[in-house]
Amino acid sequence: SYLFKDKRPSWFERTLVILKPDGLQRALSGEVLSRFEQRGLQLVAAKLIRPSAAHLKQHYWELRDKPFFTNLVTFMSSGPIIAMVWQGTDAVAIGRAIIGATDPMDALPGTIRGDLCITVGRCEEGPKEYWELIGKRNKFSCLTNSRFRNVVHGSDSVESAKHEIDLWFKPAELVMWERCCHDWVFESP
Ligand code: GDP
Ligand code: MG
Repeated sequence: SYLFKDKRPSWFERTLVILKPDGLQRALSGEVLSRFEQRGLQLVAAKLIRPSAAHLKQHYWELRDKPFFTNLVTFMSSGPIIAMVWQGTDAVAIGRAIIGATDPMDALPGTIRGDLCITVGRCEEGPKEYWELIGKRNKFSCLTNSRFRNVVHGSDSVESAKHEIDLWFKPAELVMWERCCHDWVFESP
């Protein structure tokens, strides 16, 4: 039956969302899930896990040359997280809009990051050596372990969403289900 068959129309997208360790520790899981749910996206997979550093290095591989890469991986593996897959029309862009800008200082009120957290301690682009040097001197720099606390991750493109969903979920973990409100939320193009 349709419950077990993936009947997504081609214009449907999926996005990977992660409730980061700070979000779970701060009891924000219900708040975060309901924002995606209430916007109209559909949850098709979710799990509470404590990811390994190796797994997170793969997840954030594109940021491997950033000065904060190692500390970001340490932060993300510092406690359990909830990994989720949400689907719907333009799910990737809608997901990013729900989440808000990377640095909560820049995130608009009404977004998760704009409402629920303070700052990641942003650093400018620059050679890694430079940031390693600065990091030793400036306790507020982007290299401090206590940064990165912006509650959620969301895929930034359809391509990276596909890659990230493959990395976090086996195909069988994605649950196909028909939502009774589907036609009240989505419209065919
Ligand atoms: P996102 O897609 O909005 O999550 O941002 P990125 O993919 O660019 O970065 C991944 C994560 O690394 C962010 O969510 C932050 O937790 C962290 N991060 C990114 N840029 C910075 C920075 O300049 N300083 C610090 N401390 N963390 C950062
Ligand atoms: Mg990103």
